[in-house]
Amino acid sequence: MSSHEIPLSRPDVTQAEIDLVVTTLRSGRLSIGPVLEQFEQSVAARCGRTYGVGCSSGTMGLHMALLALGVGPGDEVITTPFSFVASANCILYVGARPVFVDIDPRTLNMDPAGLERAITPRTKAIIAVETFGNPAHMDAYESIAARHEVVLVEDCCEALGCSYKGRPAGSFGRIGVFGFYPNKQITTGEGGMIVTDDRHLAELCRSLRNQGRPLPEMLRDPGHPGAGVSSVGSWLTHERLGFNYRLSEINAALGLGQMRRFDQIVEKRQRVARMYMDRLLDHKDLILPTIAPETVMSWFVFVVRLATSYTREERDRIIQGMRRHDVGCSDYFPCIHLQPFYRERFGHGPSDYPVAESVSHRTLALPFHNDLTERDIGYVAQTLDLMVGRENLKRS
Ligand SMILES: *Cc1c(COP(=O)(O)O)cnc(C)c1O
Repeated sequence: MSSHEIPLSRPDVTQAEIDLVVTTLRSGRLSIGPVLEQFEQSVAARCGRTYGVGCSSGTMGLHMALLALGVGPGDEVITTPFSFVASANCILYVGARPVFVDIDPRTLNMDPAGLERAITPRTKAIIAVETFGNPAHMDAYESIAARHEVVLVEDCCEALGCSYKGRPAGSFGRIGVFGFYPNKQITTGEGGMIVTDDRHLAELCRSLRNQGRPLPEMLRDPGHPGAGVSSVGSWLTHERLGFNYRLSEINAALGLGQMRRFDQIVEKRQRVARMYMDRLLDHKDLILPTIAPETVMSWFVFVVRLATSYTREERDRIIQGMRRHDVGCSDYFPCIHLQPFYRERFGHGPSDYPVAESVSHRTLALPFHNDLTERDIGYVAQTLDLMVGRENLKRS
């Protein structure tokens, strides 16, 4: 790594989080303890939910959410093709069928009219993704789900701290899932969290993440089937097929430390996004993120796209040129339905979801992290100008 490299992403971990992790390490309690509970309460409170259930990743959170909702073989689950692959993989984990709906080219989220058309008698759930953190259409999805009596699951892995019409991301579905991989708004290293107001769902997820063990509160009911299995407690009673999807106290301590600084983290991210907007606003070859009024963004990534006249090959060369100049740049996201595994399994091909494909061939994710300076942004923008200019020269 050269000294002036500007990485695509970098976690913002301060001494406060390091201290909290060290205190936790010294406490002697490294899993299933009080730090996780505090972290769960803190995230749940942020998004206006009653329950938070921490888990080992956003992907595993989505898996448990679908299991807890009883989604399984024979069911269809609708989601977007323009997302990280986990949004659809979780549907396959439970043996259901993913049904994709093309996106709105401005918001990059599922087109609500297309979503409504895709609902069939087999539809069990909708997994709505807040793409790049934008909660656009979440209220529309909510009413469509209610009208057709299907469950709305929010894949809000990219949206902690975002809000729409005064409602926080994570508060729209029956159940929502956050992810805390190092490139997200906050990180636990690896980790995720389910949020819901439904006590039954929360308890089911707590049991699923912990090897299918009954919760102590479940066992207090003498009629509970697990009550008599192990006479010395619930640790070796497994009343359902469970997993080890727990989040350790160490990871939770990092997350709790990040939550204590959350307002500051969001402000920093908003500042970086504003600098990009100001610098790139007049760029005739770029389409900047469209953020509707009544939307507050906490900014997961900063993704611009090239004008429609640009090809995928030109975009790819621009990304490579940026990287050669030590500027992190990526193609968020290649369409899920065109991933080799999905093509083979479901026979998907180009033009199945033309809007998502057209957008995904022209996106450029620019370096985005909390401590980027005006000078960094200037260098990124200058390099981008240079690379786009080169492609234009080749054409003429
Ligand atoms: C990051 C992300 C996930 C998965 O999170 P992990 O913690 O990496 O498993 C799921 N869905 C979306 C949309 C994401 O961006």
